[in-house]
Order: sequence, then C-alpha cells, then structure tokens
Amino acid sequence: MPIATEYLLDTPAGRARAAALLGSGRLVAFATETVYGLGADATDARAVAGIFAAKGRPRFNPLIAHYPDAAAAFAHVAADARARSLAAAFWPGALTLVLPRAAACPVAEIAGAGLPSLAVRVPSHDGARALLRAIGRPVAAPSANPSGRVSPTTAAHVLEGLYGRIDAVLEGGACPVGVESTVLDLTGAAPRLLRPGGIPREAIEAAIGPLAIANTSDDNAPRAPGMLSSHYAPSLPLRLDARAVGSDEALLAFGPPLPGARMVFNLSPEGDLTEAAARLFAGLRSLDRAALQAGCTAIAAMAVPGRGLGLAINDRLARAAAPRPAGTEGTHPS
Ligand code: AMP
Ligand code: MG
Repeated sequence: MPIATEYLLDTPAGRARAAALLGSGRLVAFATETVYGLGADATDARAVAGIFAAKGRPRFNPLIAHYPDAAAAFAHVAADARARSLAAAFWPGALTLVLPRAAACPVAEIAGAGLPSLAVRVPSHDGARALLRAIGRPVAAPSANPSGRVSPTTAAHVLEGLYGRIDAVLEGGACPVGVESTVLDLTGAAPRLLRPGGIPREAIEAAIGPLAIANTSDDNAPRAPGMLSSHYAPSLPLRLDARAVGSDEALLAFGPPLPGARMVFNLSPEGDLTEAAARLFAGLRSLDRAALQAGCTAIAAMAVPGRGLGLAINDRLARAAAPRPAGTEGTHPS
C-alpha cells in the first residue's frame, strides 16, 4: 500500500522526526557524503526486510551497517590492527570494512544476508552522524533508489524513485562524493577490494600495503560470499515447494502449515512476505539446528509466492537448497 513519504527539512525538528521514525522501525532516506542511503534500524529484522521491499530487490544482498564513530562500529565486529589503522586514517569517510561479526553483535541476520561477516562504515556527513548518534543503534542502508536504478545524490532523486514506498527523506543537500563507498574485505589474511569507491585504492595501500582485487567477472570468486549459490546452506537437505511432509522431515511453513511435520517453523502464519523475510535467516538456522538434534533427515519448505519480497525469499531458499561443494555440509558459520 502506498504511503505518503514525509519530506523532512534539515532542521532540529526534521532531524528529530527522522530519528524517531528510524527508532520505531520505519524507513528513512538520509544523505551521506557518498550517496543517499535508505536507512532502517539494523537491529530490527522487520524494518530491514522493509528496505528490500521498498527497493524491489530480487535478492538479499548484505547491507552496510552505519555507525556514528569507530568505537560504536568496533563493538559489533572483530576489528584487527589493519581495521584500526584504516579507521584512524579514513573514518569518518567513504570506506566500508567487512569484518567478522562480534559474538554479541545485535545486527539482524537479514541485514548481513546471513553472513558471518558484517560491513561497517562511519560516514562523514554531519547530518548522517547526528542522526546515527540520535538513534543510538546501527542503521542498515543501501543506496536509496529502486533496484537497478542509479544511486541518488539529492533528496529530489530519492523522492523520484521511492516516493510512496518509504516513510521519509531527510534533506541533507547534494552528496559531495557522489559515488558509493570503497568496500574492503578484511576477513582473510590478505585484504581484498570488493568494490572501488570514494576512497582510492592507492590511499588504502599507502596505509596497509598491497590489496588483492576481487575478480568480479569470475563466478567462482563472487564479490560477496552471499552470492555463492550454496553459501550458508543448512546442515540438512532442503526440499523446496513441498506439498506434503514426510514423517522424518521438519517443515519451513508459510501460511497455514501442512499437516504431519515433526517440527515446524512458520515464516508467517498470516502469509505476510515482509514478516517472512524478516524471519527467514534466523528461522532457517534455528529450525536446522533443532531438526538435526531431533533426528530429522530433511527440511521441507512450503512454496512462497514469487511476488514482492517473495522473489528474494525464493532466491535465498534456492541457494540454501543448491547442491554444495563436497566437505561443506554441516558447517554452519555461526
Ligand atoms: P550497497 O549497500 O548497495 O552500497 O552495497 C553494499 C556493498 O557491500 C555490496 O557490494 C555488498 O556486496 C558489500 N557487502 C556488504 N556486506 C558484506 C559482507 N558481509 N561481505 C562481503 N561484502 C559485503
Ligand atoms: Mg546501490
């Protein structure tokens, strides 16, 4: 259902309204120095699911979590010496660091597409930092445009693309950098450049030495690990489009559950796609664990309609059901 998107001025009242909306699970676009981001409380799975719905994204790619300062960011990821020197050199600024999630990281799984790593950034835009400080929680934000369109660098661009689909846009002027942040993967021994962006590679290399460049044309070396078809598969085989459940199967239900399952996790009893998306990652993981313990031999997944967020849900389920490389079964990153 379309909603009337609020246009909020860059005033104390406008900023307070933006923070209040974000804090209550709504979607607010805001300026950063790179491009306008479509923000949601990163700890609220349902709010993050709303980002994918508003953008019409056909898959759950991992989003960047935004923080007001490095201390806040490094409370949620495991930062090593490289991360700390890069933060000292380039934060606040257009550099995103991909790091292992901390054990007690409160960011919703859907925000990181279920990955054991998390992309974090501290933007330099004054309005963005004030907003992040005001809500006191990380904000997940991809670019504030419909999927497949050009990233917005003014509030007017945001409204052109997303009016009626998001709760508000906070005016923050034209974005000075105008391209996305540089994304650097620090989860391995060698730092890898996943996406060129606002901070040049040479500047990063001057700080921490040579970078490996992720080969985006090679399907076996995807830009984000979430792109691997079998990434984050459950331990048990997943059977899609189930119309009946075997006596030794656990059921991943959507809507009224099929009868006869040993155990059930319902993505959304009412058949609500946003709720189902919000519960998908954590639900699949907990059902897999419980089913394995109970001696089930498979998970049967009921069909999810392929409209709206159902596209992204089905994409993720298909990846979880895909044949996986030998030796990776039963290895849940946690
Ligand atoms: P966007 O939010 O549209 O600016 O895009 C975020 C970028 O960061 C994409 O290129 C993602 O693939 C990348 N990214 C975010 N989180 C991760 C992660 N945990 N691992 C690898 N890449 C990531
Ligand atoms: Mg984008």
